[in-house]
Amino acid sequence: MHDADFLVIGGGIAGISVAAELARSGSVRVLEQESHLGSHATGRSAALYAPSFGNDVIRRLTAASGAFFGNPPAGFADHALVRPRGVLHVVSGRQQDLLRSARREWLGAGIEVEQIDPRLARQWVPALRLNYLVAALHEPGALDIDVDHLLQGYLRDLTSRGGSVSRRCQVSSLRCERQQWRVVTTGGEFRARVVINAAGAWADQIAQLAGVARLGLRPLRRTAVIFAPSPHEHVTAWPAVTDLAGTFYFKPEAGKLLASCADETLSEPCDAAADEWDVAVTVERVQQATDLTISRIEHRWAGLRTFTIDRSPVIGFDPEQPSFFWFAGQGGYGIQAAPAMARAAAALALRVAWPEDLAELRLHPAEIARDRPGIASF
Ligand SMILES: Cc1cc2nc3c(=O)[nH]c(=O)nc-3n(C[C@H](O)[C@H](O)[C@H](O)COP(=O)(O)OP(=O)(O)OC[C@H]3O[C@@H](n4cnc5c(N)ncnc54)[C@H](O)[C@@H]3O)c2cc1C
Repeated sequence: MHDADFLVIGGGIAGISVAAELARSGSVRVLEQESHLGSHATGRSAALYAPSFGNDVIRRLTAASGAFFGNPPAGFADHALVRPRGVLHVVSGRQQDLLRSARREWLGAGIEVEQIDPRLARQWVPALRLNYLVAALHEPGALDIDVDHLLQGYLRDLTSRGGSVSRRCQVSSLRCERQQWRVVTTGGEFRARVVINAAGAWADQIAQLAGVARLGLRPLRRTAVIFAPSPHEHVTAWPAVTDLAGTFYFKPEAGKLLASCADETLSEPCDAAADEWDVAVTVERVQQATDLTISRIEHRWAGLRTFTIDRSPVIGFDPEQPSFFWFAGQGGYGIQAAPAMARAAAALALRVAWPEDLAELRLHPAEIARDRPGIASF
């Protein structure tokens, strides 16, 4: 039996980042069912940091994470965590209203975007069809994230602060007796004062095992593909391109293009696999908007983006079980908002003062978990 102050269930970016923050103040162990960390949603993302993405809560958490990505703490990373990418938000014929309302909303939220002439958009991404593209917004602050480097940085912080990770430890039962959790896994038994539920798509299942009411989390499958552009397309410096109606996006990835039809298909928690229909829809939508010829898909995959009903993450102790802490519902933004979310979660789990440098989040701690029956923070 191994004891710790905090047992974190889930070795994706959520679990590893919050574990690293908690390890400053207590003993921490992460339990991960797989043999590799980040092998579910975290290792399957599009690796974008885009300040405009998500709802208002996500946008504030993303903005509050920007300084970390640009200037990580000494020793965290031996090369840059992010590189400039930019996003071109494009609209076709009948969607001009979308562009006006998005522009108003983002400028109001302090996000840098500028409307650009479709001809300029085509200079940047020559494959865009002029008869498809009627207008575009450029978001220069979007970045590519080196996700593995981010994960490894947090892992190094965790272990250097005395924390540990137990892989191949699938949690199969959790029981709280006399203010101590007893957690049974396929790799042994563990005890802790506090359980942190960072199990991604499985977070509701973990709650059920612990006798805690589920939140009704919705794991939504998203499919992605990689294809090689034709040799005359020099794509490396292209911005990411996403249509404002949310029906597809593509972005350069190691000299090739990563694309998705931005699907959101409700799924059970599982090792998600690409759906052939969604692959075909991706190809069709990218080819409708561009002159790109996609003759062969080199790689396809899918991952689960897990949302709460209002699409804001859940960060806080369960009111019915005060030693069970939720860190779930990161949706499609769990990488780009990870640094601020991990610090916010650690402050709440440790019941210490809200970090001063997150004051500009303008979120009262309890507000993060607002509107969710049964969930409160401080
Ligand atoms: C195609 C795609 C594109 C995306 N693009 C972006 C993007 O551009 N930018 C961005 O910020 N985000 C993006 N995301 C979202 C991002 O990947 C997620 O928000 C984030 O990875 C969630 O991290 P997590 O740690 O909560 O989940 P996960 O990485 O899924 O980690 C949860 C972990 O819990 C473990 N676990 C579950 N049950 C148990 C158990 N019983 N016992 C032990 N361990 C257990 C799992 O094995 C898993 O490793 C994208 C996602 C997808 C699928």
